[in-house]
Amino acid sequence: MEAKWKSIVNHIQDIHDHDTPAFSSCAHGPLDGDQRNKEWLDPGSLAAVKLENIITKTALLKDVRQLSPQHQTFSLEVYHSHILHFAPKHTGFSYVEMYSRLLLAALHYNHNANRETARKSDGTEKYCVRYPRFRKGYATSLMKALQESYTHSPAALREVSANLSSDAPAPIAKSFEQVPKEEAVSLFLARQSRYKRT
Ligand SMILES: [Zn+2]
Repeated sequence: MEAKWKSIVNHIQDIHDHDTPAFSSCAHGPLDGDQRNKEWLDPGSLAAVKLENIITKTALLKDVRQLSPQHQTFSLEVYHSHILHFAPKHTGFSYVEMYSRLLLAALHYNHNANRETARKSDGTEKYCVRYPRFRKGYATSLMKALQESYTHSPAALREVSANLSSDAPAPIAKSFEQVPKEEAVSLFLARQSRYKRT
């Protein structure tokens, strides 16, 4: 993405082959006829130099790197792994528990999302997902806020928690219609005999 972005500097000067393997030539086809007659910038001209300075600004390049599709997929995967960490699949959680755990995963993700990625000595990005048990940062301020609001008014906190619980949808099993036992048994036997025949 970065190489493609930087190629604009060449493109506007009518240079469409670039000396980087990541993006060796422009994505457009060969330029013929009218397409050739553009007002290209003269290499070395003030306009070309000024535009190059803008395009290659470090802060801008950093943003462009984030546009990379791989990078986006990666952050989504990181987010999913946060969810799995806070709400492992092998454990059943109540609605409120699950809700709180998803909020935690989102907080944790957002807290780390805008950090510059560490790089290995060869310049490639180094990824490592870590879950500190207790980090001075959002976890501390979260605990502090919780403690403060509890000290301030335990009743208010209990009310919030009660409201959250009352928002919980009914268990899925409740949405099934109850079938009388005899009917269920005869349905079961009918299915069994069907399998036996084949
Ligand atoms: Zn081009």
